[in-house]
Amino acid sequence: MEILYNSTRTKGEQVTASQAILKGLSDDGGLFVPERIPVLDKSLEELSHMTYQQVAYEVMKLYLTDFTEEELKACIAKAYDTKFDTEVIAPLAEADGAYYLELFHGATIAFKDMALSILPHLLTTSAKKNQVKNEIVILTATSGDTGKAALAGFADVEGTRIVVFYPKNGVSPIQEKQMVTQKGANTYVVGIHGNFDDAQTGVKQIFGDKELAAYMNEKGFQFSSANSINIGRLVPQIVYYVYAYVKLLEEGKITEGEKINVVVPTGNFGNILAAFYAKQMGLPIDKLICASNENKVLYDFFESGAYDRNREFVLTTSPSMDILISSNLERLIYRIAGNDPMKNQMFMESLKTEGRYEITAEMKAELSDFYGNYASEEETAKTIFDLYDKTGYVIDTHTAVAACVYNKYKAASKDDKKTVIASTASPYKFTRSVMKAIDAKYDAMEDFELVDELEKISRVAVPAAIEEIRTAPILHDHVCDKTEMKQTVMNFLGI
Ligand SMILES: *Cc1c(COP(=O)(O)O)cnc(C)c1O
Repeated sequence: MEILYNSTRTKGEQVTASQAILKGLSDDGGLFVPERIPVLDKSLEELSHMTYQQVAYEVMKLYLTDFTEEELKACIAKAYDTKFDTEVIAPLAEADGAYYLELFHGATIAFKDMALSILPHLLTTSAKKNQVKNEIVILTATSGDTGKAALAGFADVEGTRIVVFYPKNGVSPIQEKQMVTQKGANTYVVGIHGNFDDAQTGVKQIFGDKELAAYMNEKGFQFSSANSINIGRLVPQIVYYVYAYVKLLEEGKITEGEKINVVVPTGNFGNILAAFYAKQMGLPIDKLICASNENKVLYDFFESGAYDRNREFVLTTSPSMDILISSNLERLIYRIAGNDPMKNQMFMESLKTEGRYEITAEMKAELSDFYGNYASEEETAKTIFDLYDKTGYVIDTHTAVAACVYNKYKAASKDDKKTVIASTASPYKFTRSVMKAIDAKYDAMEDFELVDELEKISRVAVPAAIEEIRTAPILHDHVCDKTEMKQTVMNFLGI
C-alpha cells in the first residue's frame, strides 16, 4: 500500500517518498512524516532468519513505497557491503546485563554510517525517478559525526556535491581530523565560529531562502539535506532496532513477542524517533529510554512538558549530543498533537520566537512510552570506568551516557526486561575522553599514542578509519563566521 508524506507544518500537498528524500525539508519549513506508520508484514520469527540486508529491505519497502524492489535492493546492496568491518553490520555485545547494539562498524565508526551509507543511493535513485537534471548539493550542519559520515557517503558520487559546516571548537580532535582530510572533488568542509545550533540554524536559513533556490535552479543546482531531518535517514535507522530484536530472538535470548527496552543516547532525537517508529510498526518495545548529557533539554521536557532552549550550551565529552534544538522532536510533537500541523506550527513558532513551548496535559499523557534522564560529565566518565573495570568492555562517551541513564532507570523502576543500548560510536572516535575516564595518567599522551594504548587495553584492533587519518594530509582549512555561510556555499559552487 502506497505511503505518502505530509509536512508537519501545513496541511498541503502530499509527496512521495522519493520526493521527500529529494527535498529534505518541506517548503513550509516542516519535516516530512509518513501519513501513517506501516506495520511489519513478516513475523518476527521469519525476520529472525534474515541477514541485515534482508531485514533492511523488509522494513524500508514499507516506507519507500514508490521505489521498485530492484531499486531498493540495489541501494541496500551498495550501502551495506564491505565498508562495514563485520558481515552482520550491527552486532550485539552483551556486557553487565545489557545488550550493546554496536552501530559503529561502518566507514566512519559512528552510527551515522548506518543511514548515511545508504542515503546517497536513495537520493540519486530519487533524482532519477523524478527526472531531476540539476546537480544535487548536500548541505549539512554537523556536531561531528554526521559530517564525516555524509562526506564519506557522498564523496565522488556522480551528480552530487556536499558542503559540511561544523563548529570550529566544538568537535573532538579525531572528528575534526576525519573531516578535514576528506578526499573527493565534490566535497567542501568549513569550520564556523559558533556552536552546532548556529550551524544548524544557518543551514536551515539557506534551505528556506526561496530567492537563492530560484537562482541555484537557474545555474543547474538544487539543495538537499543529509541531516537527520531527511526521511531518507530516519527510515534506514528503524532497521537496526528490528534487526536487534530478531537476532536476540534467533539466539534464544528472548521469546517471540517478549517486550524489551531500548536506550538511546540522544541529541537531535533522530535515532530514538526511529526506535519509536519501530515500536509503532509492531516491534515489542516497552520503554524508550532517552538519555541526554548535561544539555538535558529533553530530560526537562519529559519531566515537565516544557521544551526550553533558553539555557547555557554546555560543551561536553559527548559532543554529538551537544544540542539544544532537537529537530526531530518536531515529528513526535506533531504526532502527539493528533497529527495536527496547525498545532505543531504554533509550538515551533513559539520555539523560534521565545525559545520555548509547553505542551498540553493531553499531549504529555501520550509520552508514556518514554523515560528521560541524563548523565553528568562525572557520571559519564565513571560509567566508562566501571564497565571496563567489571567486564573489560570499553564504550565511548555517548554510549556511556546511555549506559548511565539505563542504570538510573533500572535502579528507580526495578524493571528487569532485556534491554538494548544503542552504542553509537566506537571508543576510538573519542579516545582521549575514554582513556582519561579509565585512568587519568593517559591525559599526558598524544592522540595517536592513546589510540595504541586503547588497542592494548580493549583488545579490539584499531579500526581502518583511524589508521587512515594518522598520516592523511589536511585538505580543508576553510573557516567562516556564522553570518557568512550562504556566501561560502555560493563561492564553492562558483555562482
Ligand atoms: C549523532 C549522534 C548521537 C545522537 O543521535 P541523534 O539521532 O541526533 O539523537 C549520539 N551519539 C553519537 C555518537 C552520534 O554521532
